[in-house]
Amino acid sequence: MADRIGELLVRENLISLAQLKRAQADQRTTGKRLSYSLSRLGILGERELADFLSAQYGVPWMSLTDYEIDPKVVELVPRAVASKHTALPVQRAGSTLVVAMADPSNIYAIDDLKFVTNLNVEPVVSTETAIEEAIARYYDRAAPPPTPSETRAPERPSVPNAPGLPESDQAIRLCNRVLVHAASRGATQIHIEPSERGLRIRLRIDGVLHPEPELPLGLRGAVITRFKLMAGLDVAERRTPQEGQIRGFRAGTDRDLDLRVATMPTAAGEKLVLRLLDRSSLPHDLGGLGLEPEQLRQARAALARPQGLILVAGPTGSGVTTTLYAALGELAGDHVSITTVEDPVEYTLPGCTQVQVQKDSGLGVATAVQAVLRQDPDIVMIGGLPDLEAVDAAVRAAISGRRVLSTLPTDDAASTLIRLVHLGIEPYLVAAAVSLVIAQRLVRRLCSECASDDPGATAARLIEAGMTASQAQACRPKRARGCKACLGGYRGRVALFEVLPVGAALQERIIEGAGAAELRAEGARLGLRGLRAVGLAQVAAGTIGLDDLLRATGERLV
Ligand SMILES: [Zn+2]
Repeated sequence: MADRIGELLVRENLISLAQLKRAQADQRTTGKRLSYSLSRLGILGERELADFLSAQYGVPWMSLTDYEIDPKVVELVPRAVASKHTALPVQRAGSTLVVAMADPSNIYAIDDLKFVTNLNVEPVVSTETAIEEAIARYYDRAAPPPTPSETRAPERPSVPNAPGLPESDQAIRLCNRVLVHAASRGATQIHIEPSERGLRIRLRIDGVLHPEPELPLGLRGAVITRFKLMAGLDVAERRTPQEGQIRGFRAGTDRDLDLRVATMPTAAGEKLVLRLLDRSSLPHDLGGLGLEPEQLRQARAALARPQGLILVAGPTGSGVTTTLYAALGELAGDHVSITTVEDPVEYTLPGCTQVQVQKDSGLGVATAVQAVLRQDPDIVMIGGLPDLEAVDAAVRAAISGRRVLSTLPTDDAASTLIRLVHLGIEPYLVAAAVSLVIAQRLVRRLCSECASDDPGATAARLIEAGMTASQAQACRPKRARGCKACLGGYRGRVALFEVLPVGAALQERIIEGAGAAELRAEGARLGLRGLRAVGLAQVAAGTIGLDDLLRATGERLV
């Protein structure tokens, strides 16, 4: 049983923290579930635990000893699935299956049960021991020992999603393993595509795809089907792209994952891309993102102002969404009203009203923002500005006295301001609306265990990249090598930020029609540190490599 139930028991004062620790230690030696240890050590009886879970999750308690289950109902769930989740089907009513579970909050187990039975699953809670005993009792009775001819896998047509077939069971295990593995490796995406030999699986870790062992051809259909089912997609539809979500996948004792799943029909079959949205990794404020102290002060000052447009700029995969959410986390509270307009809503933000853009039904970004403004929020977060109407709505909202946060896929702070003008916003409106621009990049962090000196990063190249001669002389740049502790010489990523507050001097330049280079020069006079300069400091500190920095910031930015 998950650690979170242990924590819940402590929080609700059913057991003490010391008792929990003792039970967890016992659990590690017995290798059994927490409830077993709690009851073995006389801390909390199984029945008490079941009662508690029943009240906590609002599901009925059920005694399995007093109830006779129809063997036909038991047969609906393969024994392996029942044992794995300590869950036993007890009753069927139409398309609903009542299942006794030791942990009725295990959404993932419920999902598995739905998958193998094709029925709606209604949990009731029972004790673990009672369920385990009942599983042994009913399955041994329901399944006569196989005759020798049946033990060999029979030839059957490949119907991957037929309920109860061993293929489904195996697909479930494989899909689970892929997700748990991806989460443990810190992957942000899983790419699954048909290949000649089966299914090619690659994980995107720190921005780079890494191949995994291929899955066999025989399970190709079942695995794709399983992932589509988990994401709530139409399994029969294979010719049009689909998008869905997997919510609350238990990827470890204290890790719940949300995933976005996108399918794409290709010549070889369907390709799936799963994006892992790890809620536990979501920052609650700007503090831990890696902004320099002065940048953090400037960002917080702009966020504290009652109005103004704050733009976070960077290409796809540069972490702009994380920064937006961190800023909102910092602003959220009982005394402000925050509404987000997103396409799609990726993470659930406590305390915020989140609006999903629906282009098909006419609720585009601009329309949604205008509707939201009629409810008079203090802060509006717009996930992206896809067109002039959306940009215009954001600018007008900021001018009319709201704090507005949004993103643009631009290179740096100065070019973000210019982009608004190029899109068709009058310069005086840009100057009046925008209070701050944050530009950012993510660069792979060198593994501190194995990074070695980089002979290719000569003083001449460092100077060319923007260092002074004395800085370059003192600098010992490192490069990736690779060891057991890391992946190809890298571990995680470093965020580089450029923070440009739009004050009076800059406003004047914008209104005069200055170009990006002039705005950059003006920013530099005001002490702006560009992405390249911030990155070179990291190169000097040995946290990132010179080539990685140059790739991330491009040739144009200095
Ligand atoms: Zn290493």
